[in-house]
Order: sequence, then structure tokens, then C-alpha cells
Amino acid sequence: MGFETFGLNRNLMAAVAAAGYTTPTPIQKQAIPLVMQGRDVLGLAQTGTGKTAAFALPVLQRFLQAKPGPVRALVVAPTRELAEQIHGEFQTLARGTRIRSTAVYGGVGFNPQASAFKRGVEVVIACPGRLLDHLRQGTLDLAHVEVLILDEADYLFDMGFLPDVRRIIGYLPSRRQNLLFSATMPTEIKRLAGEVLRDPATCRIGADAPAHTVSHALYPVAQHLKTALLMELLVQVGSGPVLVFTRTKHRAKRLGEQLAKAGHRSASLQGNLSQGRRQAALDGFRSGRFQVLVATDIVARGIDISKVSHVINYDVPSTPEAYIHRIGRTGRAGCSGAALTLVTREDKSVVCSIDRVIGSPIERRTLKDFDYDRPVSVSADVRPRTGRGSFPRRGEFDAHAGRHGKAAGDRPKASAGRR
Ligand code: AMP
Repeated sequence: MGFETFGLNRNLMAAVAAAGYTTPTPIQKQAIPLVMQGRDVLGLAQTGTGKTAAFALPVLQRFLQAKPGPVRALVVAPTRELAEQIHGEFQTLARGTRIRSTAVYGGVGFNPQASAFKRGVEVVIACPGRLLDHLRQGTLDLAHVEVLILDEADYLFDMGFLPDVRRIIGYLPSRRQNLLFSATMPTEIKRLAGEVLRDPATCRIGADAPAHTVSHALYPVAQHLKTALLMELLVQVGSGPVLVFTRTKHRAKRLGEQLAKAGHRSASLQGNLSQGRRQAALDGFRSGRFQVLVATDIVARGIDISKVSHVINYDVPSTPEAYIHRIGRTGRAGCSGAALTLVTREDKSVVCSIDRVIGSPIERRTLKDFDYDRPVSVSADVRPRTGRGSFPRRGEFDAHAGRHGKAAGDRPKASAGRR
């Protein structure tokens, strides 16, 4: 089945071909016909599945006939990077049309955005805070919106944006098509979907997508040896693009600097950076100038960086959902990828839940020539909490793996993780 089955306009088909898309992805196969019929859709899919084109193509097709006019589609996205990425996809697919889109977020000038609205745009892709500023100041009118798309709804919730999203909806006409995309369905998103969507069709894909193309490994290590182990792993993984995740902004910044000092082409991406510096880090990683990007969950989630060969979790993610989101950065579009996670003894319970979500125990690995008994040095990166640090004793994770090995058939219920 190719894109021709959707009955898309010639110009859109040309843009699809120019983008190099030959076959629709599973979410596109499911969602495009439904969105073209005007149905409300609940899309359970994460970034990397082609979901942007799944809503962008039908929206563009719908707007082709009309003359340029007021804002007719609103996409609400949780981060600036994601908003830019969606805007980029709209631009790619709208290139043979007169349809204009713009991305709107804070941290950059307000007036240029207001001027863009004045000149006229049909599609606005926005983060909630700045969008509300425009609505309150009357610089943006959403009274003619026909399609609302809430993208990465679970992440909008994680970032505390749901009250803003509800306020934004108050500015929209009540007759409209609604699409809601989310990688997971926590209760709050179910409630939001119940409020916003009318008789929605559900598209669900990728419940076990990461497992097929991504290999997983855990590296038990003492807290104070994490940086040293990471350096070793970076030598072993070769020259492919590597995304390293830390739990805090400070750690991302510091680790990025340490890696650069050790001779790695690295940068960090974290919320304290200005928009310009975030973009420079991302562009440098995309272009290959940086081989290693150290990032926190907040800024990295939803970012589409193709061909990441390894995701290394320097700090374990706090939930299995966060693990799935992180590893979703690798193993994309049929390429294989690897997710390597450094774990300390304190991480045991979250490791158990990640095992459950993956459906079988993740392999525990040790590096052959690495000195795991190295004491804490004065210059150690992170001081251990006790004695010889938080090094998991040999066998500790294996024993736990064995327990889960027996229960491998006991796959989690949908509410425990991805869907
Ligand atoms: P998304 O999930 O929308 O962030 O898309 C992930 C990546 O897949 C983006 O780089 C898209 O350009 C790309 N993509 C979307 N649809 C297709 C397709 N049908 N074939 C190949 N790549 C695609």
C-alpha cells in the first residue's frame, strides 16, 4: 500500500515523494483516512512513528481548496523543539501549496510572531504559554480554527500544561475536528480525551515497536564510577551519534563539559540554555559536528534526530514510560539501535519495572577491563553515599533478572507502560 491510496492532491504527493517517503508508516495508514473523513482521532503513538505527517497531510489536503485566510489549524505541542519540528514537517509537505504555517513559543520575540499572524497563516504550531499570551493580548484570533491537534498530550500533562490547554480550548469554536496524540494514556489524558474528542476513532501503534529494533543492556556500576564507565562505553560504541540522558540539568551540563574535555565532540542540551544555544546544540548533533549529545528528558523528548546509534542512560529514567520515550530516539525507521543503561543499587525498583515493560529481563553486562573496585577519588564526579559507593554487588541484578525471567510471560497490563 502506497500514499496513492489516500487520494491526496498532486502537489502533496510530489512533496511526499520529495521528502523520500515511499510507504506510509502504520500510524499514517490508520490515521490518514480517518482524519480525511473528518473524524476525531485518538492516536496512541510516539514521536518517530511518522505521526506528524499522519495529521499534517490530511490538514493540508483539506485547506488546499480555500484561499489563504485566518488560522484554520492549531497544533499544541509541549516543547519549542517539537513545535519547530512539526513546523518543519508542515513546511516540507506544504511546499507545493500556498498554505503557510508558523511556530510560536516563548524565549523569542513576541512582536515578530504577532506580525506573522497579521500577514496571515493557516496553521499555527504553538507551545501553550506563549500561545495564551497572544490570545490574551488579542494578537491572535482562533475563532476560525477547524482542526485542533494536541500533540504529545502525556508530555503536555507532565509539564503541567493541561490547565493552559483547557484555557486555549476556550478560545476555539466548538464546531471543529479534534486529534489527540499521546505515547501513553495516564488517567489525566483519558479525562482530557473524554472532554475534547467527539466519538473518536482510536489508532494504536507501536506497543512493542522499540523492542524490535532496539537492543537493551544494563551496566551495573557504582555511582562514583559512572563517568569513567561512560567514557569506556563511548570508546566501545564507535563513531555513531550517541544520545546520553541525565536526570538533572546540572548533570547534563557538567557531563557535556567533562566529555568535551576528554576529547569527545560533545554538547549538552538542557532547559537552562537559551533557545539559540539549544538550537545550536541540536543542529550540531544533527550535522555530525557533535557525536555525543548529553540531554535531560524534558528537552530531548519528542525531538526527532534520525539515526542515533546509541542511547545511553547515564541516570536511569524515573519511570518505565520515560525509558520508552528515551529509547524511542534510536532504532528508528527500521535502523537498529542500542539502549545502554548505567544502573546503581538504588535503581533496583525502577529497573524491575523497566524489565516488566520490555517483557523480559534486560541483559546485565560488565566491561571486561574496567576496574569496578576503583575507590572514590578526591576528584570523583559524584560522591558515593556510603563506604565503597553504591556499586551493586556481583549477582545482585542477575538474581533479580532470574526472578523476572520466571515471570517473563507476565506482560504488563496496558496501564503499566506503553500502549
Ligand atoms: P514523527 O513521528 O512525525 O516525528 O516522524 C519521524 C520521522 O519519520 C520524521 O523524520 C519524518 O520525516 C519521517 N517520516 C514520516 N513519515 C515517513 C514515511 N512514510 N516514510 C519515511 N519516513 C517518514
